Order: sequence, then C-alpha cells, then structure tokens
Amino acid sequence: MSINRRGFLGSAIAASLATGLNAQGLNAQDKPPGGAHASANPASDNPFGPAKRPIIISANNGVNYLDDAFAFLKSGGDTLDAALRVVKGPEDDPNDDTVGLGGLPNEEGVVELDACCMHGPTRRAGSVGGVRNIKNVSLVSKAVMEHTGHVMLVGEGAERFAVAVGFPRENLLTERSRKIWLLWKEYHSTDDWWGPGLADPQWKPPSPTTSPQSELWQQRIQRLEERAGQLGIEPEFRMAAVRRVLFPPSGTIHCSALNDKGEISGCTTTSGLAYKLPGRLGDSPIIGAGCYTDQDVGSAGATGSGEENIKVAGAHTIIENMRRGMSPLEAGMDALKRIARNYNNDMTKLNFIDMTYYILRKDGAYSGVSLWEGYSKQHLHKIAVHDGTRRSEATVPLFRGISNEFPPFPVAMPKELTKDSEYAK
Ligand code: ASP
Repeated sequence: MSINRRGFLGSAIAASLATGLNAQGLNAQDKPPGGAHASANPASDNPFGPAKRPIIISANNGVNYLDDAFAFLKSGGDTLDAALRVVKGPEDDPNDDTVGLGGLPNEEGVVELDACCMHGPTRRAGSVGGVRNIKNVSLVSKAVMEHTGHVMLVGEGAERFAVAVGFPRENLLTERSRKIWLLWKEYHSTDDWWGPGLADPQWKPPSPTTSPQSELWQQRIQRLEERAGQLGIEPEFRMAAVRRVLFPPSGTIHCSALNDKGEISGCTTTSGLAYKLPGRLGDSPIIGAGCYTDQDVGSAGATGSGEENIKVAGAHTIIENMRRGMSPLEAGMDALKRIARNYNNDMTKLNFIDMTYYILRKDGAYSGVSLWEGYSKQHLHKIAVHDGTRRSEATVPLFRGISNEFPPFPVAMPKELTKDSEYAK
C-alpha cells in the first residue's frame, strides 16, 4: 500500500498528539510486579513480558542467533561472549548488507565497519571505527578491550591491530554489494566519466526538460533497472537494487545479555550508512551512543540514524535515566524525545529520521522503543528477545505512523518502488 506523504504526516502528527504518551499511563503500566513492561501504545497488544534472568535482547536481525547464545549464557558463558555470538551471525552473513561481510560500501566502493562493546562485570570497553578488510569487527572491539590499554582504534591502525591479534584480512565486498554500489555510482555520475560513455550503443541524450517530472522519473527508473541488468544483477533482485540506489539503506545489530547472577554486557556492530563518505563514523562505535553498559544499571544500544543518536548520546542517556529511576520504557522515550527536541519537534523533518533503542535493565526488565512504528506497514520495528522463550516483539513508538525514506522522492512513487512492495528491504 503506498502512502501519500502529506496525508500520512497529518495523521501521524494527529495520532502522536492524541496518544500524548501520557506519562502517568506509562508509569502505571510500566512498573508491574517483577518489572514487566507494558506498551505505552494503547493500540499495541504486545506488552513486554515479565522480567526474567538470564535474558538476551537484540535488534530483530539477531533473532535467528539467539538460541545458541542463550544456551551458551545459561551454561555459564560470559555475557559479552553471549552477545557477541548473536551479532557475529549477521556479520558473517553475506546477504545482510548492513553489517559485516556484504555490507554496502562507502562512496568509493570500500566496506568500512564500526563496532563497540562493553563488559559490565569488569567495567571495560572496546571500540573500532572505519575498519576495512576485517569481517568480525565486534570481536575486534573486544580484542581492543582485552589486548590494549586503549578503548578506541580507527581506520588503518585498527585494521593492522586486528591482523596482529590474528584476524584474517578478507574482501568484504560481495559481488552483489559491488554491483549495487556501481549502479549507485553510475546513477549519480551525470557529470563525470563513470558509466557508459557516448560510444556506448545504448547511449541516449537526456530527455527534453519539458517532460513532466513524473515521466522523467519513470524513464530514470527504467534506465536504472536496465543498467542493473547490464551489470549482471539478477532479474528478481533488480528492483530491490534500484531501491537501494534511490534510498541508501542502513542497518545495524545491537545485543545486550544478562545472566542469572546479574552480570550484563552489550555490543553493537554495523557497516553504517550505504555510500557514506569515507571515514564517516556513525553512532555504533561510539561508547555511549550506539551502546552503553553499566554493571550497576543495565545495557542499551541503538539502530537507526547515527548522526541523531550521537547528538543525544542515546545509550548513555538511557542508562542514566534508568539510574535515576526511570523504567526502560520511560528512559528510551526520553532519549527519543531529545531527538525530536533537536528538531524543535518539526514533524516534517522528524519523519525522515528513524531510531530504535533496545534497553535491558539489570533486573531483566527490558524495552524496545522507536521514533516511528516502522519503516513500512510490512516492516514494523521489533526487538528480539530470549529469556527461555525466543520471540520478536513490536517496539513502542514515540510517534504513530511510519518513517519516510531519505532523500524524499519528488513525485508519486511508482508501485514497484514503494516500501510495501516486494522489493523493499
Ligand atoms: N546507526 C547506524 C549508523 O548510523 C546505521 C543504522 O543503524 O541503520 O551507522
């Protein structure tokens, strides 16, 4: 179903004002015996379950890796090692193009990865940013924590360190990610030498500017799809590749793990924003933004707009909120409201921002909160949980409605490009 942006924005604002995120309602629902957390969203029938230990929470792309990590944790495995087992799954998966191997590269076609971790019991941290050629950067961040007197290494130094402690150098750019990047590069290269030149038999002069915008866009999309075919992208993935060119995707995985003794740790890993400027670091490697763990309080992590999360030091803000007595849900909502405040609550701009927090308190109470309900009606934000039962639960949104992709699409979106189409995500 395609959603008219103007109509949608109106209803999203109305819904969020009507919901009002009534703090009293939150308090009442939010502190049941044992620390269970219910949803702030009256329409949600998916309240967070009762607090239990041990427990692992993660971004939903970790859900398939929770069983193994939970068994490891239950059998006495370290909390950070359990969390790392979860995030290693997407790092190793070449088909997850937002983390580790197969992550979409920077604007120069080079995969650069970011990660950090915090070990609650020993109150230590490690972080790496902008790392090339090393797949399991979450494990490298742990190595920084264990094998150096530093907390953060970046770029070439981080790569050389990883090799020194035994990580193999490997090519992280899968053929599929390389082709998507090349399509993106050629699409954005109207004024340079990338893409087929004048001598190419298929070359056509640009359409006359008198064509209506929507027609120009149709032609552009058609050319992109054709070019995707020429670059060898398989037919069933071509439209998905076109979407990845027009709306650069992002993605990350965070995981926090708590054992029955109350020890807690967390980690976050990502390839960051597709086609980012070389050297760009998002929130994921920033201790206090993409991940923060305090053995006295709990652990939190983030996925979504890294630039926004850095500005509110999201994970640290959440932990400090809980230290002062807020529930996980209240603590997360407060961080989201700070992001909204940074834009003077301008809903037009906020609708292009996405942020999800995964929050675990030391007693086992947890919450998943997000700025919007989801990326589309088919892709609602979820938190993956394992406390003996593995499940995915809807996050509690600050605003009703779905977020918009960036950059804005200037004309009515063709059906096959909409977020609810089969090619999305
Ligand atoms: N937070 C990540 C970053 O900014 C991206 C994401 O989670 O989607 O690098």
